[in-house]
Amino acid sequence: MAKKESVVHGSVELLKQIPSLGSLIDSTQLDGLVSEHGRTFVANRLRETLDNLRASVINGSIKEYQLTPVSIVAQLSDNIDKALSGAMVSVFNLTGTVLHTNLGRATLADHALEYVAKVAGGPNTLEYDIKSGKRGDRDNIVESLICELTGAEAATIVNNNAAAVLLSIAALAKGKEVIVSRGELVEIGGSFRLPDVMEAAGAKMIEVGTTNRTHLQDYKKAINTNTALLMKVHTSNYEVQGFTASVSEASLSVLSKEYGIPLVTDLGSGTLIDYTTLGLPKEPLPFDKIKDGCSVVTFSGDKLLGGPQAGILVGDRKTIELIRRHPLKRALRVGQLTMAALEATLRLYLRPEHLVENLPTLRFLTRPTSEIKELCVKVMPAIKNSCGHNIDVQIVATKSQIGSGSLPGKTLDSYALSLTLKKGLNSGSNLERLASAWRLLPTPVVGRISDNAFLLDLRTLQNTDNFVRQLKHLPETLSMKGLT
Ligand SMILES: *Cc1c(COP(=O)(O)O)cnc(C)c1O
Repeated sequence: MAKKESVVHGSVELLKQIPSLGSLIDSTQLDGLVSEHGRTFVANRLRETLDNLRASVINGSIKEYQLTPVSIVAQLSDNIDKALSGAMVSVFNLTGTVLHTNLGRATLADHALEYVAKVAGGPNTLEYDIKSGKRGDRDNIVESLICELTGAEAATIVNNNAAAVLLSIAALAKGKEVIVSRGELVEIGGSFRLPDVMEAAGAKMIEVGTTNRTHLQDYKKAINTNTALLMKVHTSNYEVQGFTASVSEASLSVLSKEYGIPLVTDLGSGTLIDYTTLGLPKEPLPFDKIKDGCSVVTFSGDKLLGGPQAGILVGDRKTIELIRRHPLKRALRVGQLTMAALEATLRLYLRPEHLVENLPTLRFLTRPTSEIKELCVKVMPAIKNSCGHNIDVQIVATKSQIGSGSLPGKTLDSYALSLTLKKGLNSGSNLERLASAWRLLPTPVVGRISDNAFLLDLRTLQNTDNFVRQLKHLPETLSMKGLT
């Protein structure tokens, strides 16, 4: 008890020593910062600094000498630097998941980045027809490209694939019924659940079949005068195995034509080239779904396509026109940055022979394991060197994930550097500390913890020289985490 009271007493004394914002902001010590950054900005950062100091005193983590005016100004400068350096930082994604949703999904191609900088940095023809001098439609920028690549008659673009699904249902089935198989009531990460999307779009969902088996008859029996849509959803992040049956788009399109009810397929990822020709697992192509008779196919721009976040809708002209004219289209449309990046990415697909070298997503997915292993061998000495004596570094075989719910259950053979702490120290909490020491590097390195080791999967390593160069900071971040 006595001890606790003295801590409280001490902290009250310390709190009193913290100067007020008013007394500091106009002091000569801050003249330089105020004239460089302006009074409002510096005052706001100073308020944060003083609040942090008070919090640290109250939780007992601060010592008296840290409260000198000089140290307060030093912390204020740090806060100013932080506020100016931006919240979105580049990282090395060495998690083994190629399309990592939390790390920005697809890495854009250089062509796309250059094109964005070239055309989207000033006025451009986003919605303007140069020949006639009249207003154009932003979809025109990519429509013919997409049609060439998917065999569709028409295309329209929205903010992401979730928006594409929402918009198709709202435009085609509001106040009406949509028939979907119980085996396809998908939830993907980030709270996209098909039943909720149906509700938000104002449609009534009619579930047919069972979790594992749905037949053509099930759809047919559910059709009535209020049916507006037949819907298929690619089960991109799970697989139903065993005694299963589902109805293909080709079969459903016969029903669709017979009853005059559009058939919409949410492909999720979807690729524009046949992955099996690259030695990758098969993934459905919008091209095939259009050929099978779908009215509309929707897919993402930033999954396997390897472009910017976008939702692409392709289909027959009449149905796409209905969708394009819906008021929600205006709310969900993409901006010029997205349009430029999407156009440049799609143009890469016109020359499939050069696609792997040009498109980072495909380059990562097809990177030979021998090359990944060589990279491990190349960077291992530098890592060992900066890790000190407490950490063992080994090269291990591992599996990369494609990510973003693409290609269920399919993994790619890869190699990783496996870091473990010397015996006795290799606890879960120390591995978490090790992972966070890597995240404290100037360009944070994000790995994963698996099987009692911290793994750096090098399938997605680019800028190897930068990666190695910044390892010189590792001893410092390891010591900050108490691992040296
Ligand atoms: C990923 C996915 C979506 C959502 O796409 P976003 O582009 O992330 O909005 C919708 N449906 C399926 C089946 C998906 O895999």
